[in-house]
Amino acid sequence: MKKALYPGSFDPITNGHIDIIVRGLDLFENVVVGIGVNLAKESLFTVGERIDMVREVARDLRGVEVVGYDILTAQFAQQIGAGAILRGLRAISDFEYEFQMALANRELFPEAETVFLMPSLNNVYLNSSMVKTIALHGGDVSKFVPDFVARRLAEKFGGLV
Ligand code: ADP
Repeated sequence: MKKALYPGSFDPITNGHIDIIVRGLDLFENVVVGIGVNLAKESLFTVGERIDMVREVARDLRGVEVVGYDILTAQFAQQIGAGAILRGLRAISDFEYEFQMALANRELFPEAETVFLMPSLNNVYLNSSMVKTIALHGGDVSKFVPDFVARRLAEKFGGLV
């Protein structure tokens, strides 16, 4: 299969997201990282800022495209002709939500199969919210995000890091 859509908030991109993108590239020729507007989640970075950060990461990776979208993930997958929707599975706690989303997306766009990939062990407990909390309190996030993302977080939180 050629093209997979990797949708998410990426607020901000972490080493866990990068882990999934790199694994996705082993399976698909193109991974389109789709930065969606998730009304249920308040975001720290604007969609534009999040796109810029993922593009910075994608510069070193062949076959990655980064786009924002504000329609349903299934509709967007159809629009770009993706044959798969890529998602990351960390702990069991991700399962219920991901299962529901995968089945809903299948109803809406059966041509795209949701594919779950597991990150390496050191990224299993990593998520954007944790990174934001650590950065907010001036903690060191350098093990969890690329250096330039750590700098953007420090800028957001008044240069504490
Ligand atoms: P969403 O709001 O769609 O959950 P996220 O940016 O939080 O957006 O996550 C996007 C996708 O990346 C999800 O499938 C999520 O499970 C996966 N993901 C996030 N962090 C990690 C990680 N550390 N390891 C593996 N997958 C991850």
